[in-house]
Amino acid sequence: MHIGCHLSTSDGFLAMGQTALSIGADTFQFFTRNPRGSRARQIDPDDAQALMDFMKEHRFARIIAHAPYTLNPCSIDERTRQFALDTMKDDLQRMEFTPFQLYNFHPGSHTGQGIEKGIEEITKLLNSIITQAQSTTVLLETMAGKGTEVGSRFEELQAIIDGVELKDKIGVCMDTCHIFDAGYDIRDNWNGVLSEFDRIIGIGNLKAVHLNDSMNGLGSHKDRHQKIGEGSIGLEALRRIARTPELSGLPFCLETPNDLDGYRREIEMLSAQ
Ligand code: FE
Ligand code: FE
Ligand code: ZN
Repeated sequence: MHIGCHLSTSDGFLAMGQTALSIGADTFQFFTRNPRGSRARQIDPDDAQALMDFMKEHRFARIIAHAPYTLNPCSIDERTRQFALDTMKDDLQRMEFTPFQLYNFHPGSHTGQGIEKGIEEITKLLNSIITQAQSTTVLLETMAGKGTEVGSRFEELQAIIDGVELKDKIGVCMDTCHIFDAGYDIRDNWNGVLSEFDRIIGIGNLKAVHLNDSMNGLGSHKDRHQKIGEGSIGLEALRRIARTPELSGLPFCLETPNDLDGYRREIEMLSAQ
């Protein structure tokens, strides 16, 4: 089992790896730029390479770069979609400084156009930014289904994947808080939910997990993360998920409301025998 948490990028790549290791993690997630989606900081190629060496030395799982969550690839507004496209395209170029890692994004909100139109826009955007030459795998995050969010049903994610031409460059990141809020009962029926995922999307397309408890109930469509064991999913179910044998190679990343010490404790709780 590989586990880590969301980290701040402020001190650069290698520093994130060192911070992760210091709290018992062997993977982590970071934002590619600030959530407002403004200019990204300059990448130092030596720092990026130093992280890659460090990860190899300490047997890290793949790391997750998270796109700004404010992007909306399926907005009704053309400029909003274009901004998402430009930002993600730039992110994917920057990702090549840390090759063969994961780039996660929120499929977005259709803002009234309807799910099908939303799916079409997301697919179109992905086909115009994903290249054969890239080493990065792009991940669609499972969503809670608040407002007009696309991607809260496995069928919707699969419809997007169906439309993507370069299928070996795309996968899914499962967020436990989001799918629970979307109505998938991972607390009492994890095996059933995982089988459903496998039947609709294919377990081989699952490349990462965001491990979060939820402040709200099954099917609430809320998306409020809670600390592990303090929400409605609970420690027992989250431990079971993190220990799923078929998922042992994937990065599990905490996005719980915590400081570094809180993350250290959660990593300990989840990995203790
Ligand atoms: Fe996310
Ligand atoms: Fe998430
Ligand atoms: Zn969330």
